[in-house]
Amino acid sequence: MLPTDSKPSATPAGKVAFQQTCGACGCVFRVEVTWQRSFSYKVTEEQRYACPECQRGCRIKTASTPEVTLISQRTDGLT
Ligand SMILES: [Zn+2]
Repeated sequence: MLPTDSKPSATPAGKVAFQQTCGACGCVFRVEVTWQRSFSYKVTEEQRYACPECQRGCRIKTASTPEVTLISQRTDGLT
């Protein structure tokens, strides 16, 4: 249990999220990773994540597993 007055920035590992547009199908999705400060400039590990619509693979340098959330659907007309 965290104290209710704690700030997210005070935790040793925080979440960082960014938005990405898939280059293959045009959908927009959000990728969230856990940022670990102690590895901020030393992360050599790569994690894979996939576009939620067409499963096109991407990679990111992070020590945690990326969470992918679909924001807007693909625009290439396929299903
Ligand atoms: Zn895609």
